[in-house]
Amino acid sequence: MRTITHLIDGEMTIGNGKTSAVFNPSTGNVIRHVEMASKTTVQQAIIAAKAAFPLWRDTPPAKRAQVLFRFKLLLEQHEEQIITLISEEHGKTREDSAGELKRGIENVDFATAAPELLKGEFSRNAGPEIDSWSDFQALGVVAGITPFNFPAMVPLWMYPLAIACGNTFILKPSERAPSSALYIAELFHQAGLPKGVLNIVNGDKEAVDCLLESPDVKALSFVGSTPTAEYIYSESTRRGKRVQALGGAKNHAVLMPDADLTHAASALMGAAYGSCGERCMAISVVVCVGDLVADALIEKLTPQIQALRIGAGTEHGLDMGPLVTKAHLEKVSGYITEGVNAGAKLIVDGRDLSVAGYENGFFIGGCLFDRVTPEMRIYREEIFGPVLCIVRVSNLEEAIALINAHEYGNGTCIFTNDGGVARLFANKIEVGMVGINVPLPVPVSYHSFGGWKHSLFGDLAAYGPDGVRFYTRRKTITQRWVKRESHEAAQFAFPSND
Ligand code: NAD
Repeated sequence: MRTITHLIDGEMTIGNGKTSAVFNPSTGNVIRHVEMASKTTVQQAIIAAKAAFPLWRDTPPAKRAQVLFRFKLLLEQHEEQIITLISEEHGKTREDSAGELKRGIENVDFATAAPELLKGEFSRNAGPEIDSWSDFQALGVVAGITPFNFPAMVPLWMYPLAIACGNTFILKPSERAPSSALYIAELFHQAGLPKGVLNIVNGDKEAVDCLLESPDVKALSFVGSTPTAEYIYSESTRRGKRVQALGGAKNHAVLMPDADLTHAASALMGAAYGSCGERCMAISVVVCVGDLVADALIEKLTPQIQALRIGAGTEHGLDMGPLVTKAHLEKVSGYITEGVNAGAKLIVDGRDLSVAGYENGFFIGGCLFDRVTPEMRIYREEIFGPVLCIVRVSNLEEAIALINAHEYGNGTCIFTNDGGVARLFANKIEVGMVGINVPLPVPVSYHSFGGWKHSLFGDLAAYGPDGVRFYTRRKTITQRWVKRESHEAAQFAFPSND
């Protein structure tokens, strides 16, 4: 059985031999092991990244972009292999893995624009014969820590742009789905990336803590659950590091009485049950404005949920695969029991699903709750499974107040045919990413991705324009060339254009 190692200074590196099991959630079997980096291994990666930095920083951005162009081509050529690795370890369907990879490649596209993105700003005659310009310079060694649910896309949100900006990078992928990140990093090296510019250390909290503690790591990008995000944010800021820590979510969709119900129902099916609900942008609550809307939605959704095609992620033509681990399956099932006990009405119960040929897989069918109220844990907490909760309200203001009172503010959407309602919603809602008749408003790579409240700790969102700002620091240079014959007397007043 293969053991996934680390990639340090361009070489596959074996650490101290401590490993963790990697499962195929569709079969429930251990399919490989992954090394768990010790402090010494992480330190090796930091040394490699630090050594590679001066040369990479001084490599012209256009040359860095050429490596990224070749990397993008290799990613496209090896799409099938990457999709297989994602689906094998995560369990999501092949079509979903393909979508994730495409959205990741989009970020490589954006990073190839490095020469344009790093052009800086220039002002001639900021003062008499004085020119001023701002440069956006690399930070040094930066690190990324990523979750299991987008094992290819989320790392690609981070390092292509960080590296295009002249930094060197250490990625700590999720120990639950580590293979695609390593495979993709090998492709980057085949594209001509110099050794040490991108390093991968596999591991868990021990590896992450080494990155947090090292004074050589200047910035951290994190994506994962909110408790870990809060930990990473506080430990990084305490040490003066730059940090962006993206956390969990509870995303609401508002369904207005004038909405196109057929469109809304099929959009909600994909957004709630795609990837088995294991997406930070998954819709997990529908706020129905009026009882008639709720009743009509239940009538539309129920047969569609019961007809979900569920099976092994590695097969074609399915709607939903399994959850990632047995422990997570038990956690999601526990939430369902708790919802029932709290008085919510379980309309569709997906528990006790058995998939023929995959009896040991971590499967659960789609679940639908009605009459969910804000005090219930199934409403307050992120379940991260295929569980959709219906909350009934009587008007739009009530819907907005409910969403704004929630701890999380990652994504939301509204289904309506009224432009005025949509405009008001987009303006008043305290959520970072908003869809209007679009259920998963994940910004494209040339915008930036980030929630509000407990869905993002830090000042800048991920990738896009905010990503460029995050991975560079501004330096402003003010210059004057003095003519020998025009020496001026000392000026003691603060310089101005008056
Ligand atoms: P997680 O927090 O368990 O793990 C994320 C990463 O942090 C992994 O690499 C893991 O090894 C590391 N980690 C875990 N516990 C740690 C600790 N105590 N100290 C240091 N490092 C630790 O998250 P997950 O289960 O892999 O991913 C699912 C979560 O990620 C969900 O909450 C989901 O909403 C969130 N997520 C958010 C976004 C976003 O953009 N906001 C995107 C994807 C996933």
